[in-house]
Amino acid sequence: MKRIICLLLVAAMAALVLTSCGESGSSSATETKQTLVMATNAEFPPYEYKEGDKIVGIDAEVMQAIADDLGMELVIEDMEFDSIIPAVKSGKADVGAAGMTVREDRLENVDFTDTYAKAKQVVIVKEDSSIASLDDLTGKTIGVQQGTTGDIYAADEYGDENVERYSKGYEAVQALSQGKIDAVIIDNEPAKVFVSQTPGLKMLDEPFADEEYAICVQKGNTELLNKLNASLQKLKDNGKFQEIIDKYITAD
Ligand code: GLN
Repeated sequence: MKRIICLLLVAAMAALVLTSCGESGSSSATETKQTLVMATNAEFPPYEYKEGDKIVGIDAEVMQAIADDLGMELVIEDMEFDSIIPAVKSGKADVGAAGMTVREDRLENVDFTDTYAKAKQVVIVKEDSSIASLDDLTGKTIGVQQGTTGDIYAADEYGDENVERYSKGYEAVQALSQGKIDAVIIDNEPAKVFVSQTPGLKMLDEPFADEEYAICVQKGNTELLNKLNASLQKLKDNGKFQEIIDKYITAD
């Protein structure tokens, strides 16, 4: 009797080993790629915007190229700009890629990769506006996209009471076009796109601030940060990065 039990036990153990082998075998056969969740705000052409249901733009394509290089599957989550850092901080998203300017205060909540673009904050006004310089903005109503550096600078320089906040940069530009506000402070590349799409507007020559964009990750996630930096460098070295830029930005 003891021997039978013993044999049964051996058989059961063998079966267990076999099934577990089978399981790992089948999971590697249908191997699913690890996802890389990118938080963005698809209201920021040419870096991220919607074409139908699809999110396209420089950040979307650069992140796709990085995900391909890392053998990961890119998933893009569209949200308000000021939800991106909280999403990355809480781990709901792995990266934030949204034409995001590196700032000391943001570094308290997230880490940034190497920078990948230079940018400027610029002022958009109506073509016939009396505002010709940054000084002329004093006491005027300035539209911004909520939570952006444009928002921070406008409030710091001209007073919070003079700032109108919109959830999309384009809404601020529309309000300007309708005469509801006097100026918009926003990043130069989206500014160019919005001005070209909206008759009667122009950009002031004098830029407001110089900035640099980077991708953010959860604070302390150096493993992902190093991977992103390595892939980014690869894309810069092999010309793919410039190819993406040239597709979306025509040299002036
Ligand atoms: N570069 C600006 C910032 O980081 C705006 C980015 C955006 O609106 N997507 O705040």
